[in-house]
Amino acid sequence: MILNQKEKLSFSSGYINGKVSHAYIIEGAKGVGKLDFALYAASVLMCEGEDKPCGVCPQCKKVASKAHPDMWILGTEKNCVVADARRIIKDAYLVPNDGEKKVYIIANADKMNRQTQNAMLKILEEPPAPVVFFLLAERKDLLLATVKSRCRTITLAGMEESEILEALRKKYPRKSDETLQEVTRLCGRSIGEAEELLGRDSVAEMNRAAEFIKSYFGDGDKYSLYVSVLKGKQKRESNQLFLSLVHGAFADILRVKCGVARCNVLSVQDAAVYARKKTRRSVAACLKTVEEACVAIGANGNYTAVMSDMLIKLGSERKN
Ligand SMILES: [Zn+2]
Repeated sequence: MILNQKEKLSFSSGYINGKVSHAYIIEGAKGVGKLDFALYAASVLMCEGEDKPCGVCPQCKKVASKAHPDMWILGTEKNCVVADARRIIKDAYLVPNDGEKKVYIIANADKMNRQTQNAMLKILEEPPAPVVFFLLAERKDLLLATVKSRCRTITLAGMEESEILEALRKKYPRKSDETLQEVTRLCGRSIGEAEELLGRDSVAEMNRAAEFIKSYFGDGDKYSLYVSVLKGKQKRESNQLFLSLVHGAFADILRVKCGVARCNVLSVQDAAVYARKKTRRSVAACLKTVEEACVAIGANGNYTAVMSDMLIKLGSERKN
């Protein structure tokens, strides 16, 4: 199966019909194939073959090996900063080395700070004719409105859960079906995220998150919250997973509170018990607090500071 095939076909037919924008936001969950999609689109734009992308012409090959002189890929190792924006602007006005187009792919565009996004505006507004931008973003809402208004958005929906499960069963025949089903449920329709979850001790993190939620809704003092979280493993990756599971648990409770009996992290029974203990507004506030912490940790925030801040906010919400 070809990843994001529907969106790729739609991009190709847009190209054939002369509908190419000068800037795109490629939006989608982590691991959903945003860079893969941007490379596909770059091949369509640069291909010299008949049926674009042909995959065999020199242009296609250079794009596939990420070695095309007219294609820049930034933001993969570290987020783009103002200096990168200035480099892009300078380069964009030079004619292409090798073909008709120049492509700039900016990974983690949603993690660029305000200043950098503002610096990019100038070139996004009116780029030279050969230039096409692809801004890859997990969270489009973190991009400035002025940036968004200059780009066309392509949303990568990810695979169906059944497709992901099927792909995982083929690739990981030694993993138990229970584990594969669990990561499929947690991965947000992203095969990349599913594989990352498989690489970690997701079952242990799941238990840890469930314990945390239990203590939160229990009668213990606020301090027990701090302890249960902070005494855990301090590896950033496992904490990101832990936080996303806690986030999923609050989302479960909120859904149940709104009458939707569908849970991803908790059992429906547990979620119902917790839902009865709090107001809808309060659960929504918790969800928002954890979401903010997830974003802060994802953006390389200081772990201890982010967690303390989250725990204090959750603690003050506990009585409601
Ligand atoms: Zn080609």
